[in-house]
Amino acid sequence: MPGPGIRCLFAWAGAALEWLYPDRCVLCLAPARGGICVACAADLVAHGPACPTCAEPLPVADACPACLRAPPALDAVSVPFAYAWPLSQLLLGYKRGGRPQLGRPLAQLLSDHLPTAATQGVDCVIPVPLHEQRRAQRGFNQAEALARVLCRRRGLPLDTGAVRRVVATPSQQGLSRRARKVNLRGAFTVERDLRGSRVLLVDDVMTTGTTLTVLAREVRRAGADWVGAVALARA
Ligand SMILES: [Zn+2]
Ligand SMILES: [Zn+2]
Repeated sequence: MPGPGIRCLFAWAGAALEWLYPDRCVLCLAPARGGICVACAADLVAHGPACPTCAEPLPVADACPACLRAPPALDAVSVPFAYAWPLSQLLLGYKRGGRPQLGRPLAQLLSDHLPTAATQGVDCVIPVPLHEQRRAQRGFNQAEALARVLCRRRGLPLDTGAVRRVVATPSQQGLSRRARKVNLRGAFTVERDLRGSRVLLVDDVMTTGTTLTVLAREVRRAGADWVGAVALARA
């Protein structure tokens, strides 16, 4: 992994080049309509074998001890990539680095690499909502941007109004799993009757999975029969 100076230069040069060459790969400048070329996408670190219901990395894909001990909140989780450089850099640049133009290539990356099975039979796609304040600051919700392209490409119904984030929770960064759960208590309210539906939650990065777990419980309480989740990368 390159040092911070090189990474900073990479970010700055990347932003300039995206502006100059919108139909070029954001990583290597090869012609790429989607913004990330096939070769660079193939070089990204895949999220390897993992637990199918919480995406915990494991030597072989099987139920993890935690999911065997207690029924998992999610019925299925699918994450194509690991949160590793250079994808981590692109996600940071997109969310916090003033490079909103990275939204399109990142969304296409998810749509291209998410297995078909992850979206099969889904009748409601809900992106993890941001609190209004956070959304206004950022200007967009990254999870919604990913979900929008996924829904368009796969003919799935997107519902951005199904859940509201009613508490502006402080950043989850650096918190333990338990502290994250406390932090998120009462954070979401479901505004729909989801009885009998198969709901797919979408987020950009899955860290401990607490946000998706808390949200899944709320969605299930609103009547959903099945709740799955997808994210672009797993930290
Ligand atoms: Zn490339
Ligand atoms: Zn698990």
